[in-house]
This record gives sequence, structure tokens and C-alpha cells, in this order.
Amino acid sequence: MRKSIKKVLVANRGEIAIRIFRACTELNISTVAIYSKEDSGAYHRYKADEAYLVGKGKKPIDAYLDIEGIIEIAKMNGVDAIHPGYGFLSENIEFAKRCEEEGIIFIGPESKHLDMFGDKVKARTQAELAQIPVIPGSGPVSSVDEVIEFGKQHGVPFIIKASLGGGGRGMRIVHSLEEATEAYNRAKSEAKAAFGSDEVYVEKYIQNPKHIEVQILGDKYGNIVHLYERDCSVQRRHQKVVEVAPSVSLSAELRERICEAAVKLAKNVDYVNAGTMEFLVANDEFYFIEVNPRVQVEHTITEMITDIDIVQSQILIAEGHNLHSSEIGIPQQEDIKTHGYAIQSRVTTEDPLNNFMPDTGRINVYRSGGGFGVRLDAGNGFQGSVITSYYDSLLVKVSTHATSFRKSAAKMLRNLREFRIRGIKTNLPFLENVVQNEKFLTGEYDTSFIDTTPELLD
Ligand code: ADP
Repeated sequence: MRKSIKKVLVANRGEIAIRIFRACTELNISTVAIYSKEDSGAYHRYKADEAYLVGKGKKPIDAYLDIEGIIEIAKMNGVDAIHPGYGFLSENIEFAKRCEEEGIIFIGPESKHLDMFGDKVKARTQAELAQIPVIPGSGPVSSVDEVIEFGKQHGVPFIIKASLGGGGRGMRIVHSLEEATEAYNRAKSEAKAAFGSDEVYVEKYIQNPKHIEVQILGDKYGNIVHLYERDCSVQRRHQKVVEVAPSVSLSAELRERICEAAVKLAKNVDYVNAGTMEFLVANDEFYFIEVNPRVQVEHTITEMITDIDIVQSQILIAEGHNLHSSEIGIPQQEDIKTHGYAIQSRVTTEDPLNNFMPDTGRINVYRSGGGFGVRLDAGNGFQGSVITSYYDSLLVKVSTHATSFRKSAAKMLRNLREFRIRGIKTNLPFLENVVQNEKFLTGEYDTSFIDTTPELLD
């Protein structure tokens, strides 16, 4: 049954909240923002038709995690659907269920998908069931002896990872068995502090891989398509910094195999809405690592090369439309084509010369780039904005699109250089170095790129 969505609440902040409001407005849907006390002057508050304070008396982060507070705002104001964005409650099963109980549409996959993919050990099991390549690994380990046993069986290096991990946290690489005890204890305590559970597992460490991920969309009728891949190998501390679509270095044959595997997994679990299947690629082999059952920061570049609006598709899928209906308008898989190359740079308020420490303060001057083939997704990027230490440091996403990768990189460099941001430090100089580095321009980079290229900090 198709339900008509008239009003959407976005349970998020910053650039992604604004991105979702824009999608709603174009679909003639009213928008509702929530904001914490600390975000009283935040831009997303003013970009919605209505805005309500949430999480009174709670800590800044907890305000956006206030399930009952958000549900109450939604019910009081005639909201019929909630978009969780990324992070915060986007993968929270309890939240998805509460929405369902209250008859509010949760714009995302079903709670069973959040359950199977929010936990990386469960996700690995699903990948195995779908018979796609998975990195040799363990189930949850409950003692260092089990870790050492894994090391003896599979050799070093291996990596200890938090089952509920995200954002590159709760991971420890082990190069020799002597390091196992300390790494295990640290991974556990980091996992507990960041994700509330100290469950960890072990995976063989793939040396210098590329991070390749496939964008998936599925509707409620079993139709699933992929929108090709993104190369997110430019990482710092396992976190993405610059993303590229499509990958410059992937052979057509490997691309096809990876995209097919992603679709196979999605079909095997009757996946619904937007999701990303992530893989590591090394020596012409690929291995599943995890699924992100939500919209991702880097969805912009896939939109640029396919002309498919992922966020609007999410809303329309949640409303009950068929992927191939005139409302969503996604072609059959064989007719989905990519054109050109898109690059996204994450401009953050971090100081590259001080170990990327987040900076805070008032932005006195803010002038951005722009022009043909450029897309800007900003959160609090404006003159007079006050950047606090309470939330993540993403300031603006700069995405460029051109017919060739080098042209797209040249456009990116020109744009990054056009920015004038005063009053707060940013990683702009670092990003400029990345997009003109020869390893980047030739596609000969992997996840070790930033660590092994110290001149990026010059
Ligand atoms: P998160 O959910 O925190 O983003 P992921 O499992 O997606 O964690 O991994 C993030 C990054 O960490 C990967 O892109 C890769 O660079 C590195 N990584 C994770 N697992 C492995 C592994 N088994 N071998 C090598 N690198 C890994």
C-alpha cells in the first residue's frame, strides 16, 4: 500500500539535514528540523519549515539520540515520516521500531536489516550465506587466547575490530602475536567507550587494499539495483577523506564482479531502501567488510555520475513506490549508466599542522568556491557561524564532476583554492595537496596513501 508522505522530520543536524530538507522540498513535502540547545544558531534549524528544540537537559550529542523526545515532536506536529540521515539514530533498531509502533514511516531499511548489518559479525554471516567473498575472520572472541589461536591459524598481521564499530574507531592491527594482549584489551575498551559494547572479532589484515563500495537501492517489491562503485581509499585513521566515483583503477571485469556480489547480498536479504556494501580489494581479489544500511556522506558523487537522486529515491521508496515507477524513475539495471568522474572532498575544521586537531571558534570570513560542475553541501559554513567541539568537524563537502578524472581533480583544486575561511583552521591545504598528488591522479593509491605520503602535509 502506498502511503503519502506530507511532512518529514529529519533526526539529524548539519549538512545531511539540509540535504534531506532540499530533497523533501523538491518533492513538495514539508520539513521539520530538531536542534539541540547548543545548535540554537545552527544553519539546519533555519533551513526547515519548522524547527523544535530537542533533548532538553541532555548532553549535546544525546539530544539527537533522544528517541522519545523526537517521537513526541513528530506526533505533536503531524509528521508522517522520519529520515535519520547518517550517524546518530540511523542504525538504531529501537528507534526504527518506535517509529513503526507510532505509525511513523522510518525512511530507511527494515529493522531486520538494521539488526543484521548494524553488527559486523552478523553482517559477515549474511555475506557468507549469500556466498560472496569474505575476509577470513572469527566470530565474537571472548578471550585473548582465542585471538592468539586465530593468529596461529591464519598468520599475522590481523586486525581486531569492534562488532558495533563505525567511523574507523575500535580497530587494532596486530603485527606479531606478542602485541595481541595489549591490542585486544585496547580494542575492547575503545569499543565499550565508543559503542557501548566491548564485543570484538578478528579479521585477517589485508595489506594495502583499496576500499571500494557499491551503492544499492531496493524497493519493497524485491527490485534491487546498484549504482556502481565509489573508491574511498583516501583515508586517515580508517576514515574517508576524499572519495571518487567511479574508481579510476578498477578493471571493467572486477567492477562487474564486485557490483554483482553487492546485488547478490542485497537480494539474499530482500534489502529495502538505500544501502552500501563495502569491500576491500587487493591483487585482483575482493572481500566483503561491511554494509552501511543508510545514506552515506559520499552519496553525492554517485548522484553526479548517475543523475539519480539517492535521497529522493529513499523517500519515495519509503512511501511505497516501485524503483522503476515514473515517480522514482530508475531505469532497469542494464540501462543505468555512469558518465564522467566525480570527486568529493570533506572540508573539516581540523588543523593539518597540528595532527588534525579539531578547531573551534567563530568563522569571521566564509567564501566558497562554485561554478560549472561543482556541488557544495555545507552545514554551518557561513560567516558568523560558531563551530563548537560538541559535534563532528565536517564543515562542507565539495563535489566536482567532469568528463575525465584529471579534469574533475583540476576543478576540485580550483575550488578548494577559491575558499576563504578565516577565524578557524581547516584541512583545505591538505586536501589541495591530495588532489594534485601524482599517486592520486594516476589512481595508484590505496588505503595506505596518506600514511605513506608525508609530503601531503607540506
Ligand atoms: P568502520 O565501520 O569503522 O568504517 P570498516 O570495517 O568499514 O570500519 O573499515 C574501515 C577501514 O578500515 C577500511 O576501509 C580499511 O581501510 C580498514 N580495514 C578494515 N578492516 C580491514 C582489514 N581486514 N584489512 C585491512 N584494512 C581494514
